[in-house]
Amino acid sequence: MVNQDGIRRIIDECLREYPCELELIYNEPMAFHTTFRVGGPADCYAKPQGEGFPAFAACLLRAARADGTPVFILGGGANIVVADRGIRGIVLDTSGWTGKTEEGDAGPGDGPAMRFRSGTGADAAAELAAGAALSGLEFLAGMPGSIGGAVWMNARCYEREIADALIETEIIDFSEAEESSKGSVSRFLRIPADRAAFGYKRSPFQSRPCLILSAGFALKSGREREIRGEMEAHRRNREAKGHYRYPSAGSAFRNNRAFGKPTGKIIDELGLRGLRIGGAQVAPFHGNIIINAGGAAAGDIRALTGEVAARVKAAAGFVLEPEILFVGDWG
Ligand SMILES: Cc1cc2nc3c(=O)[nH]c(=O)nc-3n(C[C@H](O)[C@H](O)[C@H](O)COP(=O)(O)OP(=O)(O)OC[C@H]3O[C@@H](n4cnc5c(N)ncnc54)[C@H](O)[C@@H]3O)c2cc1C
Repeated sequence: MVNQDGIRRIIDECLREYPCELELIYNEPMAFHTTFRVGGPADCYAKPQGEGFPAFAACLLRAARADGTPVFILGGGANIVVADRGIRGIVLDTSGWTGKTEEGDAGPGDGPAMRFRSGTGADAAAELAAGAALSGLEFLAGMPGSIGGAVWMNARCYEREIADALIETEIIDFSEAEESSKGSVSRFLRIPADRAAFGYKRSPFQSRPCLILSAGFALKSGREREIRGEMEAHRRNREAKGHYRYPSAGSAFRNNRAFGKPTGKIIDELGLRGLRIGGAQVAPFHGNIIINAGGAAAGDIRALTGEVAARVKAAAGFVLEPEILFVGDWG
């Protein structure tokens, strides 16, 4: 555990300077905030809400950095496994920072665009676009997690990825520890020039300490009925694949073209469906999903991920890379 008095001091100071509505809990189990339903306590869980979010978050990130207190930025918790020992320092939950902020042209000749605050659910963003008869985010329908997390991960499915539609992001870059900019910083990065920085589950935000505040997407005018039809088809497809049957974080391992087939198929062919360690299990219905089959510890999930990778390496020679992120204090 890091010094909670130090954390209290940082939070009090930022609240005084940048008042905002704040849910603050010490020793909060992260199992309450992840789709895997596992994870030990965060020393401090902070969920700022409302219009004061950006200034308060910027202050918190800078002050914590100056103090040497780690901060983990939480979206929807849909791609992470938090250690049973929890997360040291502060967890900054973005899920109170939601909604659409702008509609309008993305730029000369670019057509319509829409901007969302980062805590907006990915599915909710697709809904907001559909409600304005704008096409381009249908692929996000039914995907758990937030827009911020989807941008950070460059989430992908149904032949589309975030970078296909993303045109700009507003970020707080907390690597710049200038006192003068404390509490006020947000920078817009236009994405097209930066397209090459995005790849398979890769974004430029992974290599810099930053909080994504909002993201703007270039969309196309369409027919609401058709847009919603496609969204419904994706949701039904996910349901049919069993995505929502058990707590999980979606695909456990990355696909890799060099393998010549999807990772799930390789795992299936080795008969690893149903393999279990403690409460963690390779989904009996999908080789590339690890589920919390009941009472799993984060350690079970990590051990099972390692076991599957080891068996695939031994039998097929492929080195699997986890897609789920193991975060927090693994000791
Ligand atoms: C049933 C199921 C199905 C899934 N299907 C898919 C799929 O088809 N395709 C796919 O790509 N993924 C899929 N996922 C994984 C997950 O939904 C996505 O990766 C999602 O984009 C993660 O977003 P999140 O908000 O939950 O991120 P989190 O899990 O909360 O965080 C992931 C990472 O992003 C960082 N982060 C989050 N928000 C911000 C922010 N605002 N600023 C800076 N950093 C941030 C976190 O610090 C962390 O490092 C699935 C998950 C589940 C449970």
